[in-house]
Amino acid sequence: MADKNDKQQGFLEELFAPVAGFGVTFATMFRTVTTEEYPEEKRPTQLRFHGRHQLNRHPDGLEKCVGCELCAWACPADAILVEGADNNDADGQRFSPGERYGRVYQINYLRCIFCGLCIEACPTRALTMTNEYELADDNRADLIFTKDQLLAPLQSGMAPAPHPMVAGMDEKDYYKGAVTGATPAQEEWVREHHASADQEGQSA
Ligand code: SF4
Ligand code: SF4
Repeated sequence: MADKNDKQQGFLEELFAPVAGFGVTFATMFRTVTTEEYPEEKRPTQLRFHGRHQLNRHPDGLEKCVGCELCAWACPADAILVEGADNNDADGQRFSPGERYGRVYQINYLRCIFCGLCIEACPTRALTMTNEYELADDNRADLIFTKDQLLAPLQSGMAPAPHPMVAGMDEKDYYKGAVTGATPAQEEWVREHHASADQEGQSA
């Protein structure tokens, strides 16, 4: 009896197999059509969407990147190039709290697969990802983003690096969040030194 039922079921399955494949097609024909009006209308991404990277700053404008290269080592696509250099207070070349900063920083968006391993590897939260996803271009050079493109814009209360650290604070204070903005002394330093650097650049 069981054999007879199995045979009947097998026969029916074989009979309807060629049309079963069209089930999805027929069901889709009666669904409401949704037209995305991109790029005129852009829908917001999910909050944790992995988009273009950003190199963050401390509240006084110094850079969070310490040039350690951990992001580059973590990247499975070999998309990141970092070259660190020493901060130098004597020469007025301090870009980050602590010893080193990222002198050269590049991300190759022809290679990047937006996996986010680099931001997980970053010990200072210098590197994060934004929600920006419009990264198409028609040539290779424009898809290799350099440090000036990746660095977060200055917010109010920040002074552009290079400049000294907040007086009396050390590297740990910066990472504990004790620095809340550029002090008048830092702003004054930037006014003096950046103006003279601009003049030197113009006369050269
Ligand atoms: S998101 Fe992934 S592929 Fe892209 S730079 Fe970071 S680690 Fe590399
Ligand atoms: S972004 Fe982070 S991991 Fe990469 S070099 Fe800078 S501090 Fe290191």
